[in-house]
Amino acid sequence: MIRAIAADALLNPATGETTPDAIVVIEDGRVTKACRRSETQVPRDAETVDASGLTLLPGLIDCHVHLTSLGEGLDFARELTTPPTLELMRAVRAAKRTLEAGFTTVRDAAGSPAGIRMAIDAGYFPGPRMLVTVSALSQTGGHTDSHFMCGADLDIPLPDRPHMTVDGVENMRLRVREVIRAGADWIKLCTSGGVLSPGDQPHHAALTLEEITAAVEEARTQGRKVMAHAQANAGIKNALKGGVATIEHGIWLDGDAIEMMLDGGNALIPTLVAPHWVIRHAEAGKMPRYAIDKARAVIDDHKASIRQAIESGVKIAFGTDTGVGPHGSNGEEFVLMHELGMEPIECIRSATTVAADTIGMQGVGALQPGSWGDVIGVPGDPVADLALLAKPENIKLVVKGGEVVKS
Ligand SMILES: [Zn+2]
Repeated sequence: MIRAIAADALLNPATGETTPDAIVVIEDGRVTKACRRSETQVPRDAETVDASGLTLLPGLIDCHVHLTSLGEGLDFARELTTPPTLELMRAVRAAKRTLEAGFTTVRDAAGSPAGIRMAIDAGYFPGPRMLVTVSALSQTGGHTDSHFMCGADLDIPLPDRPHMTVDGVENMRLRVREVIRAGADWIKLCTSGGVLSPGDQPHHAALTLEEITAAVEEARTQGRKVMAHAQANAGIKNALKGGVATIEHGIWLDGDAIEMMLDGGNALIPTLVAPHWVIRHAEAGKMPRYAIDKARAVIDDHKASIRQAIESGVKIAFGTDTGVGPHGSNGEEFVLMHELGMEPIECIRSATTVAADTIGMQGVGALQPGSWGDVIGVPGDPVADLALLAKPENIKLVVKGGEVVKS
C-alpha cells in the first residue's frame, strides 16, 4: 500500500526548516519521500491524502505516560472496586485519545503490562507505538508501595505485572529480572518519594546507591536502560551515580546534579503539567488532602529547577505523566516548557528527535526515507504558534505507519 500526503508545508524538526508545497510518500508503513511536491514523482498507484491547509510534522513522542491510569483524580474507593481487567481496559480508551492528540509513540512509565503494547501492535485497538516499564520498583513504604496504613495492599502481583516493592541488592536483581521476564522494555525505579503516594515525601531519597547500581547492572546485561522517578536532590544524584539513563520530574536539581547530567548525557523529562493536574483535580474535589498539599509545595521549586536545567543546556525530553491528567491533554506540556525558556523548535525537538534518541527507538520522531510513516498535521505553523500542538482538536490529521487514524 502506497499513500501520499499532500500538504501546505512540512516541518523538519531536526533542521527547523519548513518546506512549502510538501508531499510525504509512505510505502508499506515506511516513508520513502518527504519533500517539495515538484521534486518528486508520486507513484501512480498511490492513494492520496489531501492535507491542504495543514503543516505536517512527525508524530509526537511522550516519554512518560501511564495508559492504565484514568487521569481523573485519585479515588481509593474506586481503585478498591476496580478489577485488574477493568484497569487494563482503561488503556484502550487512553491509547486512542493519546494517538488522536498526535502522540504516535509513548513510553509507559508503569502500569501497562506488555500485553497492551502487543495488542496495539497486533491491531486489536488503535494506539501509539509503546515501550513499557510494566512495574515501577520502589522500596518498602516508597512511591509505588501500595500497602496502606490500614493493612490493605493494592499491589497484588500478577504474572504480567510483577511486584513493585523491593529491598536490598539481591531482591533488586530478582525484581528487575521479573519485570524483564514480563516484557519490560525499560526499567523504572523510584529513587525518591512522590506527590500521589500517601506514605512518603518528594524531598526524601529512596533506594540505596547499591540497589540502584544493581538494577542498572541487571538492566544493562539484558539490553535495557533505567528511568528514575527522581524528585529529591539526593534521589536525583543517587540515580545518576547509579547509572540511570533518564531523570523523571527532577524537582530539586542543583548545579552539581546538572553538571552530572551534562557529563553523562542524561535526559531530563520534566512532566511540568503533572502538578497542575493534581491541583485541578483537587479543586474539583477529586484528590486526597495529602496530595494537594504536596503538589502545592513542589510546583514553584519544580519550575525553578527545570528552568535552571534548560538554561544550562541539559537534554530535555518531552514527558507529561499523563494518567495524572486526562489522556489526550499531553500537548499542554509544550506551552509550559516554552514558558520556562525553551524556544518553540526546541520544544518540538524534545517530542520528536530528542525523544526518539532518549527512548532509543529507531524510525520515530523524523520524516525521512526509512522512518515509520507517523505523520501529524496542524492548521498553521507550530513554530510560530506552539499552541497548535497543545490541544487535541488542533491535530487535524494523524497517520500511523501509513494508516490514517484521524482526519
Ligand atoms: Zn509517572
